[in-house]
Amino acid sequence: MNFCREGRPALGAYAFGLLSAADELIVERHVAGCEECFKELAGFFRLRNAIRDLPPETFLEGSPDDE
Ligand SMILES: [Zn+2]
Repeated sequence: MNFCREGRPALGAYAFGLLSAADELIVERHVAGCEECFKELAGFFRLRNAIRDLPPETFLEGSPDDE
């Protein structure tokens, strides 16, 4: 698969700790050799850290789509 195009959602899931161990390995191997995806992942980690600083009440109202 073309990770740089199709794997982008996995980067976000990785940053938020949502991937299985096997999928985490795929992400780690790819970003180790791909600067573009590494930067993308760093952006997701910044986002995660920013969100973590928010109070939980922030997410209790108006969540976009429930799945
Ligand atoms: Zn890539």
